[in-house]
Amino acid sequence: MYLSNLFAANRVHRFSTHSNQEYLHEDEYTIALEFYLQIDIDLFYMKTCSYRGAQPDIDVPKGLFCIHESQAQYSIIACQQRSCCLCYPSYRLTYRSYQPIIQFGSNQRHSFINGYRSILNCPATCTTKNIIYVLTCPCNKFDYIGETSVPLANRLSFHQAHVNRIVQECLLGKQNISRIRNQIKSFETLVKNDMKLYQHFAHCPSALQWFLDENPEYWPFIPQKLTESQEQDEEKDILTPMMDMNQFTYANDVPEPPNNYRFSFKQKLEVDRFFHEKKYLNSPNLHLDLYQVNIVAVLPNNASDALRRFVEALFITHAETKLNTIGHLDQLSTSRNTDQIASIDCNEWCRDLIRRSYTNIE
Ligand SMILES: [Zn+2]
Ligand SMILES: [Zn+2]
Repeated sequence: MYLSNLFAANRVHRFSTHSNQEYLHEDEYTIALEFYLQIDIDLFYMKTCSYRGAQPDIDVPKGLFCIHESQAQYSIIACQQRSCCLCYPSYRLTYRSYQPIIQFGSNQRHSFINGYRSILNCPATCTTKNIIYVLTCPCNKFDYIGETSVPLANRLSFHQAHVNRIVQECLLGKQNISRIRNQIKSFETLVKNDMKLYQHFAHCPSALQWFLDENPEYWPFIPQKLTESQEQDEEKDILTPMMDMNQFTYANDVPEPPNNYRFSFKQKLEVDRFFHEKKYLNSPNLHLDLYQVNIVAVLPNNASDALRRFVEALFITHAETKLNTIGHLDQLSTSRNTDQIASIDCNEWCRDLIRRSYTNIE
């Protein structure tokens, strides 16, 4: 339990939390050890799981040290409740290859981006509490592991609210945001803003494509490749030779576009109209998911926060998830450079975004 104590001490130090919340209680040493021993170098499958109706396979000689890979035998079942955001997402799925965002069904297993695999250890539904879950960016290059004591659907509504707010803020720019929101940001909001998880979604073309598919009114905030916008500006020069760039209140305060990109005159007009018409009041859709999600492990009903965080950290360490800022157990004692872990290439976040319409399809 040296590792779990080191991890707890690291959290106490980092977040100034109380040690009661971080250290594992003795009652949970066995289950923590069970997880620790069964998280193999390239695969997690729990041979001895005996809670929540899990039945270790009796036909095969089993035990902690069994060497052959187990069959995936547990399902994730849809709860089918109208209010559940996993069963009934409140956004369009037209362009998504996997619908909905979680793959319900039997024989659940998961492959992480780095190739690490896991087999679900217990039956689960959208309402199962005390779980370890994973969010995978549609770019398929970045993933994030989280833990929660509440059902996945509830936990996701928290991610949805933060991710959509942060994408909106990145597109509109600090100046404009302070014009439309005058409340001081809470400490929690500021912490979330810096999370690699949300920063990635705000700068990843694949996630932004999903954001724009759902919120097309944000297209004016996406700079264009120099040539396209030059053409549009030429048209404008013919139509309105007297127009002056200084007339814009908001469009001049959107973030600098990357090299070789810029905002056309028409876009700037649309940006100002966006603010004058207060389109930010009803958008973006704060229930949108910008990732795929999966449940990778289920903990006992009464698992403590400390146990959940320890198991989460084991997964983070093996799956080497780039969007987790903390939890990498192999880096507890080194002063880690976070940029190295998730160096997100955001030079061309607006690259290859396509305007897709719904009218031809629906
Ligand atoms: Zn559901
Ligand atoms: Zn991505």
